[in-house]
Amino acid sequence: MSIAENLKTLRQDIPENVKLVCVSKFHPVDELQEAYDAGERIFGESRVQELTEKQPQLPTDIQWHFIGHLQTNKIKYIAPFVSLIHSIDSFKLLKEIDKQAAKNNRTIDCLLQLHIAEEDTKFGFTRDELVQLLESDDFAQLQNIRVVGLMGMATYTDDEKQVAKEFADLKNIFEEIKNRYFNDVDTFKELSMGMSQDYKIGITQGSTMIRIGTAIFGSRGY
Ligand SMILES: *Cc1c(COP(=O)(O)O)cnc(C)c1O
Repeated sequence: MSIAENLKTLRQDIPENVKLVCVSKFHPVDELQEAYDAGERIFGESRVQELTEKQPQLPTDIQWHFIGHLQTNKIKYIAPFVSLIHSIDSFKLLKEIDKQAAKNNRTIDCLLQLHIAEEDTKFGFTRDELVQLLESDDFAQLQNIRVVGLMGMATYTDDEKQVAKEFADLKNIFEEIKNRYFNDVDTFKELSMGMSQDYKIGITQGSTMIRIGTAIFGSRGY
């Protein structure tokens, strides 16, 4: 199946209000161009160097999302153009993004990543750490970042009930945080959950943004 055909199939499963992030890591720019030509405008990358190499080679109306684990010393390379960072897992990171955003005279949209899976290997805040962060004076000082929602990755398992439960937990935390801290603004509205293997469950559980790689571009040759 071609990329265009994969996208066509995929779109049949995605409601209007759910955004598709085409996860293009490890795929060459001509494949991203194919997805672009098929109408896609949001691309997700997980490595800074790869993203900064690809970005100048592709059309300027692409919204680049960063979805991987981010090191503070590399933020400066993507700060001029990145449109959303999904993977904020520490205050330190948020603070440095704020600094680099200010240097570029812009505001950078961010999602706070929650640790919802069983595996220890995945990154993210617990619910309590998140509350602590949002109530801190340090957080209140940040001027050039905007927290627009949450992101989470479910356990990698065939057990759909478990995945549904983890996504439902994340959705509950999302609603709680929205009501407690972002009630007066309409900016906190994105819930990034669901990948190739579990996006249908993600959508059922209230996802607004799915991050799909393999189901669009095929398997990655690491
Ligand atoms: C690679 C990656 C994806 C896409 O995974 P697929 O299984 O290929 O759809 C989604 N989210 C994150 C954070 C990733 O690193």
